[in-house]
Amino acid sequence: MKTLVVLGSTGSIGVQTLEIISMFPDRYEVASLAAGRNVELLADQVRMFRPGLVSVGDDESAKKLRSLLGEGLDLSIVVGASGLLDVATVEADLVVAGLVGAVGLEPTLAALQKGRNVALANKEVMVTAGALVQRVASERGAQIIPVDSEHSAIFQVLSGQRSQDVKRLILTASGGPFRTWSSGEISNASLKEALNHPNWDMGPKITIDSATLMNKGLEVIEARWLFDTNPDYVDVVVHPESIVHSLVEFVDGSVIAQLGLPDMKVPISVALSFPERLELDLPSLDLTETAALHFERPDGERFPSLGLAYRALASGEAAPAVLNAANEESVAAFLQGKVSIPDIPRLNECALNEWERRGGGGLRDLRDVREADLFGRRFVSELIPGGSAPERTKDGMFGEADL
Ligand code: MG
Repeated sequence: MKTLVVLGSTGSIGVQTLEIISMFPDRYEVASLAAGRNVELLADQVRMFRPGLVSVGDDESAKKLRSLLGEGLDLSIVVGASGLLDVATVEADLVVAGLVGAVGLEPTLAALQKGRNVALANKEVMVTAGALVQRVASERGAQIIPVDSEHSAIFQVLSGQRSQDVKRLILTASGGPFRTWSSGEISNASLKEALNHPNWDMGPKITIDSATLMNKGLEVIEARWLFDTNPDYVDVVVHPESIVHSLVEFVDGSVIAQLGLPDMKVPISVALSFPERLELDLPSLDLTETAALHFERPDGERFPSLGLAYRALASGEAAPAVLNAANEESVAAFLQGKVSIPDIPRLNECALNEWERRGGGGLRDLRDVREADLFGRRFVSELIPGGSAPERTKDGMFGEADL
């Protein structure tokens, strides 16, 4: 029996994780859950999985959850950032880090510090603090298993291979809903059009990131730290069918890919069961039906976000945290109808420029991550009309995981 913690249990990754767990009641049990304000769904999850501990975003949500569940359940409810840390560090075999945004960093780091293995879906953890996270994981002997589909593909391909035999990691990108749109059309894109992802069903923040290709930029940063690779050896290729989830080129010229129909349950189940596999009963990939697979070079002019990610990696350990925070603010502003799609990379680039102008910085501990994060957030919110304060955004991120 494997005991699990699910951070972000009412978000897209959390819900699918629990769906898989419910299919294998003899293999998994749930020790604790962390959610934000979606207490109706959390109450259902508590009834079904019977965790001993849950955390919610605020006192009001805790009160609501208690009244929904009534008496008679052996359950502790904790609140806010400290509650999230309590949930992340309970005794467990695997922590599923499924929060969205920078809010997931501290609890994930705390779990690694306790030596817990982590199934990492919350890519911002690696993006904002990759060097720090890897150091803690290796010191504590904790394993990080990627849930992000591209990194799961690479993780699966690399399993059993020697790192010195790897030449290049090739991440695939769907290209998002604007792949074939002109710059002018992208400028006028509505929220609905941006949220209309062709292949993947994900939360709104990550769907917008896919539309701008920022998601792939964040994934390049994530890959750099997860696989300890020089960014020069991480490439991106646009692959609209999302059948090839990523590839690895080896020194002998062999290229090995992981393929499958796009369904996040696959990478989630790999992370839950590695090195074994779960029988998921999903439809088989029929390559004759797929017929053609297409690959294109990403267009840096229409999608400048990808280049920003490489630039952030080159400008010091803390710069990706600035870029990520700036991006969270600018995406939040887009979701609120305050800025356009092309404004997102523009705002992010301004933040990165200013950070570099001030001399950047290294990443020794969480304080450095926080400082860089706050810098990116403040800088962008000051540029946004009616900009949101960092505190409000943090609350917003709790809410985000619930959508
Ligand atoms: Mg991905």
